Amino acid sequence: MLAFRTEDATFSYGNGFALRQISLSANEGEMVGLIGPNGSGKSTLLRLISGILPASEGEVYLDGLSLRRARRKAVSRMVAVVPQQFQMPFAFRVEEVVMLGRTPFLGAFSDSSSREQAIVTQAMDWVGIGELRGRFFNELSGGERQKVVLAMALAQQPRLLLLDEPTTHLDINHQVELLELLKRLNREQGLTIVAAMHDLNLAALYFGRLVTLKAGRIVADGVPGAVLTPSMIAEVFGACVQVQSHPTTQVPFMIVVPP
Ligand code: ADP
Ligand code: MG
Repeated sequence: MLAFRTEDATFSYGNGFALRQISLSANEGEMVGLIGPNGSGKSTLLRLISGILPASEGEVYLDGLSLRRARRKAVSRMVAVVPQQFQMPFAFRVEEVVMLGRTPFLGAFSDSSSREQAIVTQAMDWVGIGELRGRFFNELSGGERQKVVLAMALAQQPRLLLLDEPTTHLDINHQVELLELLKRLNREQGLTIVAAMHDLNLAALYFGRLVTLKAGRIVADGVPGAVLTPSMIAEVFGACVQVQSHPTTQVPFMIVVPP
């Protein structure tokens, strides 16, 4: 079963950049890292898969359902997004922010509020932010906010979770903590995860499949050992690296060689 599939999906902002003819799919339960230099289209591709941006040509299917025909509410029941920046314009408390993840499910026939509350509590427990529930979101550290936004996404109970550079603003301990949590969600809940990753070494450690973008096109797609080669890094990133084998996991480990 495919979690999503794009078929020759094309998108342009109208300013020169375009994602061109992207055909990409992921099986349910896969963990996919999206890598590529700044401006290569990682965030745009995540927005296309989540239906935030519509493809101008081609199709995007979520769970077999074309985004052209899907209702917004139906889409938000399948896919949740953790964007790079998440702003709260008002003084919301953590628990209220996480509850926003339930919005797509509220309606005339919504479940009892105690069930909704249980889902919110469970999402906060997964991420380990129970003790933050009464704090104001805007007063949290960057790492704490990142966790709250992840809990909000999990409260949606999605099948597919998309994250845009989730570790970029975290210190090394919180980076590992977050990636371990994603791994656990993937293994224990079968959640399909696609994350844009900046740090190639962390991407190699945690993602069994790396999709590489360059100037709006997919130029590599495979296991880290096949994708993260010195020639590929030079071609895609213009960087000179030596690739070694990680001492305990044997995945590629990149060492920058100053020019
Ligand atoms: P990445 O996430 O890989 O850094 P993005 O998908 O954010 O790349 O951006 C790809 C290109 O699209 C860049 O040239 C960027 O300037 C442009 N772009 C991104 N978002 C917008 C937007 N909202 N409007 C216009 N251009 C954008
Ligand atoms: Mg980006």
